[in-house]
Amino acid sequence: MEFNWPDEDAQFRGELRDFLAATLPEDFDAFDMGARERDNFSRDFAKKLSTRGWLTPAWPKQYGGLEQSAWQQLILSEEMVGHGEPRTGQYMCVNWVGPAIILAGTDEQKDYHLGRISRGDVTWCQGFSEPDAGSDLASLRTSATRDGDDYILRGEKIWTSYAGVADFCFLLARSDPEAHRHRGISIFLVPTDAPGLTIREIPSVFREGTFNSCVFDEVRAPEAWRLGPEHGGWPIIRKLLANERVGVARYHRAETFLLKAVKVAKAAGIMDDPIISEALAKAKAACDAARVLVYQVVDERAKGRQPDLTAYVYRVAAIRCEKLVYEAALRVQGSDSVAPDSVAAGQFQHAVTAGVATGTLEMQLNLIARDIIGVAGA
Ligand SMILES: Cc1cc2nc3c(=O)[nH]c(=O)nc-3n(C[C@H](O)[C@H](O)[C@H](O)COP(=O)(O)OP(=O)(O)OC[C@H]3O[C@@H](n4cnc5c(N)ncnc54)[C@H](O)[C@@H]3O)c2cc1C
Repeated sequence: MEFNWPDEDAQFRGELRDFLAATLPEDFDAFDMGARERDNFSRDFAKKLSTRGWLTPAWPKQYGGLEQSAWQQLILSEEMVGHGEPRTGQYMCVNWVGPAIILAGTDEQKDYHLGRISRGDVTWCQGFSEPDAGSDLASLRTSATRDGDDYILRGEKIWTSYAGVADFCFLLARSDPEAHRHRGISIFLVPTDAPGLTIREIPSVFREGTFNSCVFDEVRAPEAWRLGPEHGGWPIIRKLLANERVGVARYHRAETFLLKAVKVAKAAGIMDDPIISEALAKAKAACDAARVLVYQVVDERAKGRQPDLTAYVYRVAAIRCEKLVYEAALRVQGSDSVAPDSVAAGQFQHAVTAGVATGTLEMQLNLIARDIIGVAGA
């Protein structure tokens, strides 16, 4: 494998970097902001991206995209994530909410939603997890009960990022309680101001507004809000989550924190300390391993293959590199790590949540055991 970028890709990265340098404050990190401030910032930033076609560059031209290659999508993700992800929750709209609507939406849904997303006018949240349905998502119990041409939504979603500021919720609900659990699920595109929907923040150790609970108390959902076939939401979700799992260039962000840790270590004259150098080297090797694996995923995708198996291994490598960078930063800064502006503090949230969000480490390992190693019953 050789990583020489073709001229047009290198030029795209250069243009992105120039744009980001001119647009963002130095050392910008959206994770330092509270939910409302972050949302205001990202809406403004998304419009700037949109005017250049860089908010939804991979989308078909008819829906506001540039039909960019899988490699250019990767470059976009690396540059955004490496610069503190100024799009914040917009990355979800772009990476998989919009593509889900392109894949399964009616003409009316496409007309209504896709322009709003590609112009950066709206943000979305993901209503999947429930108090008793996380890793085992197919056990979800939020219900969608037919009532004439409408559905009545009842239940609770939990840990919903961005819900407090989002305009729409991409909701999974059980529309057929009698069917096999994967075959009774439908998707709904629910405005967050729908009567009966209450969104509350779940306090956490992370910045304000990180997690929310969304309670659906008899929310009336017209049939026009349903995305895809009735009871046929699961195959759509499976396809999209495969993209979601590799859609965030975690290794790239981790490496930016690692470089900061190296800078601190150099300034402190401790690079020769074997404990420090080993921790930094381990972290660097893990970042590189995750990068090579995701490049393999993108290569397979660019060749029209379904890279599920490599994607499982990549996710494990990405989780590992987030953790090792955090550990290296702790080693470098020692007790100074408790300062809120330390490198370790900046990396803390990513290291802690990496192995939970978008599927836990244990579930990825189970998939590797079952589908790659062939362990029966894993
Ligand atoms: C930062 C962050 C953002 C999130 N944002 C969203 C969001 O926007 N929308 C949303 O819907 N959800 C969101 N989540 C929730 C996330 O998807 C769930 O936390 C995750 O799927 C795990 O579910 P759970 O918390 O219910 O844990 P559980 O599924 O209860 O798991 C608990 C522990 O048991 C382990 N475990 C469970 N089953 C098995 C098994 N079969 N074999 C081995 N180990 C097992 C798990 O690996 C884990 O360690 C977010 C989570 C985080 C951390």
